[in-house]
Amino acid sequence: MTATHVPGLPVIDDGWLISTNPATGEEAGRVPVADEKAVIAAVERAKEAAVWWQGLGFDGRKTRLLRWRTLIVQRIEELAELVHRESGKPLADGTIEAVAAVEHLDWAARHAKKVLGPRRVRTRILVAEHSGHLEYQPYGVVGVIGPWNYPIVTPVGPISGALAAGNTIVFKPSEYTPVTGQWLADTFAEVVPEHPVLQAVHGLGDVGGALCRAGVNKVAFTGSTATAKKVMAACAENLVPVVLEAGGKDALIVDADADVTAAAEAAVWGAMTNAGQTCIGIERVYAVEGVYDRFVEAVVAKAGKLRTGEEIGPITMPRQLDIIRDHIEDALAKGGRAVLGGAGAVQAPFVSPTVLVDVPEDSSEIREETFGPTLTITKVRDADEAVRKANDTPYGLGGSVFGKKNAIRIARRLRSGMVAVNGTLTFVGMGNLPFGGVGESGFGRIHGEDGLREFARAKAITVRRGPSLLPAMTFERTPAQVQQIVKALRLLYGRKP
Ligand code: NAD
Repeated sequence: MTATHVPGLPVIDDGWLISTNPATGEEAGRVPVADEKAVIAAVERAKEAAVWWQGLGFDGRKTRLLRWRTLIVQRIEELAELVHRESGKPLADGTIEAVAAVEHLDWAARHAKKVLGPRRVRTRILVAEHSGHLEYQPYGVVGVIGPWNYPIVTPVGPISGALAAGNTIVFKPSEYTPVTGQWLADTFAEVVPEHPVLQAVHGLGDVGGALCRAGVNKVAFTGSTATAKKVMAACAENLVPVVLEAGGKDALIVDADADVTAAAEAAVWGAMTNAGQTCIGIERVYAVEGVYDRFVEAVVAKAGKLRTGEEIGPITMPRQLDIIRDHIEDALAKGGRAVLGGAGAVQAPFVSPTVLVDVPEDSSEIREETFGPTLTITKVRDADEAVRKANDTPYGLGGSVFGKKNAIRIARRLRSGMVAVNGTLTFVGMGNLPFGGVGESGFGRIHGEDGLREFARAKAITVRRGPSLLPAMTFERTPAQVQQIVKALRLLYGRKP
């Protein structure tokens, strides 16, 4: 690498993708870059492997997925160290991220059979002589495209669901964290050496585009909204279904009866963890006037203790530094005030914690995804105004509410896929809860039962149990039989409810 290399920026050299640490510029590892032919070949191999993988059935797959889970647990320090080296993420954050990945893997492995396996459904009147059966069959090969900010848990979520459902995977990790992605594929191959059930292919965005067009049967994308639209357009060419986990601008509401200290602690964690590079990170707070002053004071006191290079790691993607700087400057230029950090907070590759107040709603710091350790706090009259302002964004990923009496009611009114009440980001820690957004944050769900069904097609089967006493779906029926069917219908459903 040359002396002019920007730390953290991926380098492609002679067919290799070289990944570097954003804080030090040191090489974290290198992986081969795939061309279009290689991506197609990987998908072909995955198709063949899918026959074997599906043949194992739910129980066979569960055993193998749980073996992978155990291997990750046994080598969790190694994985956390790798993600720390590659993305700059503090070691403790990398460890907790790996723990969350294990939770999703374990849950998907254990529950796939119950959620997706064959079951009888109740017979209905129109075809009473037939039994109904439902099962969920795998798509075949799922292409998973991942981001760099949580390079373990974001891909492991869809990978776990898709594998448990019986699909095989071709995974394109972010070019900023390819070595972590390769680690996942390699460790899976250690416990499932027979066939290439989980393969990684590497490169820049064009490799992700090639994967969408390589014959996969579904794509699970996690990344920015702008790229999500390109992925959907590429998949539309062959009518390949997609699940899109995109950006966010999540808000936290502090209601009048909130525990202000707990709300401040959670807001600081939600906004600043992973240096704010979190899709479900808290970027805005709306605090009602009765608690506003105390809340701002508590947030500043807590966030002021965080140290860059310790709890606050570097910004992983160098060009994000300009976006964070622009947002802070725009907020200040439009009349906002920094009560912590502010102008000068961006000192590449770090950004020191920044808390902004009085920021107008039309500033980029309020409207666009900042993806840095910044937080705006806005005073509102009441929870209604808070909800209105929180919802006034094209995004709708997660969110948080602090309060007692009305907290759950407020949570329901937030236009988002997930909300934590008296906590932040907590919904991602539960393998049995679905995860995904609305609007520009994407659609479809990973994790939980919905996340398993996302990677399988519903298959409906009816089976004749006996002769038709009142045949409805045949030309052989008589007018009298049709009348009898109507009579039966009236008996069943003819009375006012
Ligand atoms: P990104 O959109 O730049 O890249 C994501 C992935 O898409 C990378 O692997 C990239 O190589 C690939 N890609 C780029 N162009 C492509 C194309 N034309 N076709 C196919 N693939 C292409 O996103 P990022 O910067 O890596 O990640 C940060 C973003 O991800 C943020 O917006 C964040 O909010 C979002 N995110 C969302 C979730 C979620 O679950 N909703 C989770 C984590 C991150």
